[in-house]
Amino acid sequence: MKKILVIGSSNMDMVMHVDHLPLPGETIGNGTFSQHHGGKGANQAVAAARAGGKVTFATCLGDDVFASQILEGIRSDGIDTSLITTIPNYSTGTALIYVDAAGENAIGVAPGANAKLNLEYIEAIGDDIKNSDIVLLQQEIPEESVIEAIKCASKHGKRVILNTAPASLLPHTILAQIDTLIMNETETEIMSGFDLADLNVSADYFLDKGVKNVIITLGSKGSFIKNKDHSFQIPAFDVKAIDTVAAGDVFCGCLATALARGSELEEAVWFATGGAAISVTRKGAQPSAPTKAEILNFIVTMG
Ligand code: ADP
Repeated sequence: MKKILVIGSSNMDMVMHVDHLPLPGETIGNGTFSQHHGGKGANQAVAAARAGGKVTFATCLGDDVFASQILEGIRSDGIDTSLITTIPNYSTGTALIYVDAAGENAIGVAPGANAKLNLEYIEAIGDDIKNSDIVLLQQEIPEESVIEAIKCASKHGKRVILNTAPASLLPHTILAQIDTLIMNETETEIMSGFDLADLNVSADYFLDKGVKNVIITLGSKGSFIKNKDHSFQIPAFDVKAIDTVAAGDVFCGCLATALARGSELEEAVWFATGGAAISVTRKGAQPSAPTKAEILNFIVTMG
């Protein structure tokens, strides 16, 4: 089993369900509250570990009570936490989320310690990047850190997987160092700068820039995969979705684990598609990520 290093964000998501979104100056007194461990980096690290991956997670937490709760959760999934850094006088990344009766939301995010996952931090974990096999990144940390981590990983021949969420443009020289680029439909449009009218045309845009494998996830329609040798679409499993919140994160984590196990890309996408399908039938982000046994059983049963 190859080693996966996930470098990314951790957040505490604080969710309040209210009948309508509060207006400026308004107080709504009958909300219901729940708190969830989130952040794309943490979600993907948990998904990869639960799917059977050997995962180290590099992230920055604040020096508050959220940090210890998040750390405990990550540890309980068997993730190596030795690179997790506590930033004094910073809060842990926090998202405040209002959700109304119709499912509409209003969200404020304070990156807190995630902003300290900076160049200095990436330089400090240079040896750990060298000692890993697969480096999995998202774009919820400072852009210069994502770029530096990709450069370092690719220089040492590591397989770089980038999930462009939330999408922001990257220099073409950096795209050329990416082994597998994973984007949803909106992110594909942002990253390419043109409408997603034809999956082949959009995928070719990135292949021409030097990306080896392009995966465009299509929600309940599955995903489209293209590299220089093949292009194919893998349908989603037909399930009753109740919460699609971290579908993309579970997909990315499971994909990294399948590749780490030595699967070819197509087999890895099937595994990731199974993992993501299970996750949409469950509530929450990290709680919804399935185990390897659950995914394999599900694929056999559904297939
Ligand atoms: P994101 O969550 O990043 O927006 P998508 O919505 O494209 O990403 O979903 C990622 C993957 O999760 C899809 O490729 C698919 O395999 C799976 N998925 C998403 N929604 C559903 C659904 N309703 N039913 C089954 N699988 C789904």
